[in-house]
Amino acid sequence: MAMAAAKLTRLLLRVCGREASCTPGKVALKICPDFMGGLRLPETVICVTGTNGKTTTSNLITTALTKCGYTVTNNSYGSNIQAGVCSALIKDSRFSGKSRRQIAVLEVDERSSLLVYKYITPDYLVITNIMRDSLKRNAHTDFISYIINRAVPERTRLVLNADDFICSRLCPGNPDRVFFGISAEKPETSPEGALRDVVYCPECGSALRPEYVRYDHIGRIVCPGCGLSNPAPDYEVTQIDRSGGSFTVSHAGVCENYRLVNDNIVNVYNLCAAVAVLREFGLDASRLAGAFEKTSIVSSRYERVKAGRLNIVMQLAKGQNPVACARAFSYVVRDSAPRKAVLVMVDDKNDNTNDSESVCWIYDCDYSALADPSVKQLVFAGRRCRDQRLRALLAGVDPSVISISDSLFEGAAMIDTDACPDIYVCFDPYILSEAEKIKKYFADKGETEK
Ligand SMILES: [Zn+2]
Repeated sequence: MAMAAAKLTRLLLRVCGREASCTPGKVALKICPDFMGGLRLPETVICVTGTNGKTTTSNLITTALTKCGYTVTNNSYGSNIQAGVCSALIKDSRFSGKSRRQIAVLEVDERSSLLVYKYITPDYLVITNIMRDSLKRNAHTDFISYIINRAVPERTRLVLNADDFICSRLCPGNPDRVFFGISAEKPETSPEGALRDVVYCPECGSALRPEYVRYDHIGRIVCPGCGLSNPAPDYEVTQIDRSGGSFTVSHAGVCENYRLVNDNIVNVYNLCAAVAVLREFGLDASRLAGAFEKTSIVSSRYERVKAGRLNIVMQLAKGQNPVACARAFSYVVRDSAPRKAVLVMVDDKNDNTNDSESVCWIYDCDYSALADPSVKQLVFAGRRCRDQRLRALLAGVDPSVISISDSLFEGAAMIDTDACPDIYVCFDPYILSEAEKIKKYFADKGETEK
């Protein structure tokens, strides 16, 4: 009954032109709370969880598997909570509950772990990283670690980020674990006063000493008290060739080359995670390399558009998620363009239907990248623009480059495209349609100027 009701709901939603990424699962779970336990899953189940990079990583895995000829169930374009996972499985199931696909690649929200892994034992679980996130939703990294440790079945093979001191120590009871990490482009200095989600040794309590830190606590950390450190990666990015567009993964003493789908360091981690799980799954390196040749990062996350003399870069920056936002700022500023205009639209307003989040996440986020001299104009648009400006001032941004507007579109119009032909738009996932319009506004402007 639950399956029939869910399938009917899905059909009705699709007829009405609506996405059916969550509701069919909700209906099924309402009728039968144990519904997921009755499904006959694909032969292989790969789950992806973690604070940042879930969607990108599971999309990379799904695309690579599809290009290698496998049929895949995937929820990356929909919802990653229990009902979303359930909806994706329903979509590709027969009425009997048997899946029509060979593999499921499921992105799972960390907080849904207990609800999902109660019914689904992943063959592989990729955990991208564990970092501070929205306080309202995720509380603290210890809380998220506690949930994951309790939820993940012992039989699951873990694919963990070796460079993340918290992630690499998850699920200590699971004997089957492989690690991925990056040794290329080691930072010479560690940023002083940077935000860290792990400061004291979880074993002996000594103050931890970073050997180097890429961002947040990602890097290599050593405990001076007991010698505890990050594990050695089994899949290690030993070289990143940005100009040639490739990266090298060393595994079991052999170097494998893959196309650098995106050169943002956070995406190099995501790429390496995808390589690790797919190689463990059994894809050989040459097939995987071939699949990566035709893969890209979804354009709703990252896109470059050339319109006349304007270069428009659209970069997703998740509001309320301090590390994701800081990475987006740091990435756009890294670009070599000498005269940048950065439009930041990371309000939490749209997430506040029934409640509100304090603005403390803005102060948890590192804005110092925006103080780079190549940023000639910085516009904060949206209802929180005054908080954003204050944060930027505290980070050392020159007040004369900052403009603010309560309206997203007026904020976009403030960009002086004559002075700054390179425009970077950092936008929140809640405003995809507005971001699309703003991209079009700049693109049209660039085209008509031609
Ligand atoms: Zn220690």
